[in-house]
Amino acid sequence: VLTLRALEKHYGSIKAVDHVDLQLESGEFMAILGPSGSGKSTLMRLVAGLEPPTSGDIIVDGQSVVNVPPQHRNVAMVFQSFALYPHMTVRDNILFPLVSRKVPKQEHEARLQKATSMLGVENLLDRRPSRLSGGQQQRVALARALVRDPELFVFDEPLSALDAQIRSRARAELRELHDQTRITTLYVTHDQVEAMGLADRVAVINEGRLHQVGTPQELYNDPADLFVAGFIGNPP
Ligand code: ATP
Ligand code: MG
Repeated sequence: VLTLRALEKHYGSIKAVDHVDLQLESGEFMAILGPSGSGKSTLMRLVAGLEPPTSGDIIVDGQSVVNVPPQHRNVAMVFQSFALYPHMTVRDNILFPLVSRKVPKQEHEARLQKATSMLGVENLLDRRPSRLSGGQQQRVALARALVRDPELFVFDEPLSALDAQIRSRARAELRELHDQTRITTLYVTHDQVEAMGLADRVAVINEGRLHQVGTPQELYNDPADLFVAGFIGNPP
């Protein structure tokens, strides 16, 4: 579904993303795991099309999307801060991706229904985001991503704004949502427990470079280098 080829993003002398090659299979849930400043968010912004790469290629279903603007990529992103529109109701927030893509109006209600019932936010439609709890905001952000029926989900630390109590439940719900929809997912986190617990495969990144890609078991049993071993907590 998604292939990154020799992808680079430089900010002046900083190589935020440094020659990343990566392939995601259809329906896969992959975590991008790395410490603060390792280039995770930059990588996600490139995939979503919010910034152009310095060089390299992003291929979705066999076609380069580097020159495709974000609204025409079939990629739905959820940010750490959720980025809900404060002046809009929950209903209008969730419908916004359909309105901005000029999806015919007669489709809206059914798609709203489906997304909100999957996330359990049907009873919040007339509220404003500021009147919601963090967990509710997160569900609304997910419903807004889901309503587009995207080919790829890109989640940038979607649980980090939640308190520890509800985070583990939200984590389980995210995995459940994936099991139900099978939408290919890239999930960014700096939390190795989260990555190892959620993902089919984990890509470990540091200073913009990909160190290893593998199943949690592979990373744990056979870390490629000292960085991976140290970061996932199983030093040789
Ligand atoms: P965190 O876990 O703290 O969110 P991250 O892994 O998401 O970190 P990035 O935000 O991708 O890391 O940043 C990677 C590197 O690129 C950092 O050194 C950062 O300072 C730099 N960087 C990111 N965005 C910009 C920008 N717009 N201009 C200049 N430098 C940037
Ligand atoms: Mg980040």
